[in-house]
Amino acid sequence: MNVNGASSRVLPKGLAPRDFENALQKFAVAIGDEWVISSENELKNYRDPFAFASADPREFAPSAAVKPASVEEVRSIVRIANELKVPLWVISRGKNLGYGGAAPRVAGSVTIDLGRMNRILEVNEELCYAVVEPGVTFFDLYEHIQGRKLKLWISVPALGWGSVVGNALDRGVGYTPYGEHSENICGMEVVLPDGGLIRTGMGALSHGKTWHSFKPGYGPSVDGLFMQSNFGIVTKAGIWLMPQPDFFVACDLHFERESDLERIVDITGELRREDIVQNTAVLSNAVRLISRLGARDAWFAGGGAAPESAVQAKLQEMGLGAWNLRFAIYGAEELAEARLKIAKRAYGAVAGARFESKKWDVRAHGAEEFTAAIGSESVQAGVPSLFALEVLKYRGEDGGHIGFSPILAPSGKEAVKLANLAGRLCREHGFDYYGGFSFGFRHLWSVMMILYDKKSDEHRAQADRLFRRLVKEAGELGFAEYRAHVEYMDLVGDPYDFNGHALRRFTETLKDAVDPGGILAPGKQGIWPKRMRENGGQTQ
Ligand SMILES: Cc1cc2nc3c(=O)[nH]c(=O)nc-3n(C[C@H](O)[C@H](O)[C@H](O)COP(=O)(O)OP(=O)(O)OC[C@H]3O[C@@H](n4cnc5c(N)ncnc54)[C@H](O)[C@@H]3O)c2cc1C
Repeated sequence: MNVNGASSRVLPKGLAPRDFENALQKFAVAIGDEWVISSENELKNYRDPFAFASADPREFAPSAAVKPASVEEVRSIVRIANELKVPLWVISRGKNLGYGGAAPRVAGSVTIDLGRMNRILEVNEELCYAVVEPGVTFFDLYEHIQGRKLKLWISVPALGWGSVVGNALDRGVGYTPYGEHSENICGMEVVLPDGGLIRTGMGALSHGKTWHSFKPGYGPSVDGLFMQSNFGIVTKAGIWLMPQPDFFVACDLHFERESDLERIVDITGELRREDIVQNTAVLSNAVRLISRLGARDAWFAGGGAAPESAVQAKLQEMGLGAWNLRFAIYGAEELAEARLKIAKRAYGAVAGARFESKKWDVRAHGAEEFTAAIGSESVQAGVPSLFALEVLKYRGEDGGHIGFSPILAPSGKEAVKLANLAGRLCREHGFDYYGGFSFGFRHLWSVMMILYDKKSDEHRAQADRLFRRLVKEAGELGFAEYRAHVEYMDLVGDPYDFNGHALRRFTETLKDAVDPGGILAPGKQGIWPKRMRENGGQTQ
């Protein structure tokens, strides 16, 4: 990493300061001076707000940011970067908190901030899709749909300020039946690392009409190649939306014993496959729900992991179970009632389970009334909010977190193995186990946040140790992550090792072919371009 003269600006390794200044000038000519950000103060917004393992704030810092307003401007930036060998990083809104925020994988990269490209290009109410630019947030799309009284629901992650496109590209998760966001992308426009421009699927037809309704197109499907990848910059995408259901039933279940976990996962996995549970059901342990109240100091003022007795006392006070499940049912009243009946019968097999449900006639209630009534559960109705931010204060007003997110089979036995391991390791490193599972059709996302005090060096160091042990020891049980913080992208990719990491070699072959200059997001998801690979990582 280079630090430029008097300022602490980080330059890309191997790039002469003169070439860097030259690149900035060319960017300014291409997109306008005011859209090239290079002041130390403004660049702080492009770092990881939760930086932790390294005390050096420059470790994952960009050298500059550029804010194009159009596809042509993105293409110009890419061409200049190729000419001068400037590494680029891309963000849509840069809210990837827990996975690095806006920070680039390689220090000194120039960050392309697509926030100004924020047009909602189309919302098709009949076919239920939207076409958006990367700068469109969940709030933007929701308000657009509500403002026009369209009978459509979007799917949102727990925080609504992120990008519809950016979140889906990182394979983000929401809580309606359309919650697997990457699966609902249909048709993209992509700027390639050499400045070329493609449209995927049916978008490759100059006069096609089904770009956003038929995903595969003709020949190999390539949308997935641009997710969690460094093969291109997505400049627009189609996203499928859910037809507004007539009825919405929010279900809340509380289970008394820790040992109920195996049964709950087996039952919910089966109900999900049978489409009785239609959305991303979320199973949470006690700490996950308690942490929503904010600062832990309010009920336990000590350091290290909170003792079981304190957690239990808080649980009782809040009327929660050791495990708590939330899911929703959607659609015509007859179908909703039938699904509810089947679900109640299935969970009745778990002794002591409490089942609560609230049914809403969506047609009879305006969005505002409906949203106010369901509060933080609104994500299951695709209503964006920022309720979830409160958890960050759990271990200090200035808190941060890192996500550990391995994928499991939806099997009770597997969930128990992971929960036992995570609980033990968290305790050993002085953290409370904030844990749970989200249910996909054929898998579980294990959701775990390591919540720490950003101001404490000891906390940050322990969080790093804990994360590394989790990857290693969960890996030995066959669990690997689906998503990673920039700092751990190589580490998380290592267990994907079949046939001597043949998959990684394949993606590197693709990388070298589409990005011979190796300029776009080097190292993202462990995929390094040739010029950096040969010298073992971030070198020229
Ligand atoms: C309390 C809390 C709760 C959270 N809950 C959830 C949750 O429920 N579900 C969830 O999914 N996440 C969750 N997150 C994580 C995160 O906040 C969201 O995923 C957020 O939407 C990601 O930020 P973004 O949408 O701005 O994407 P960005 O930060 O813009 O991008 C995300 C990734 O995609 C890449 N990328 C972005 N745009 C492009 C592009 N146009 N072309 C190519 N690559 C691109 C970026 O390089 C980056 O790696 C949570 C975080 C916190 C702190």
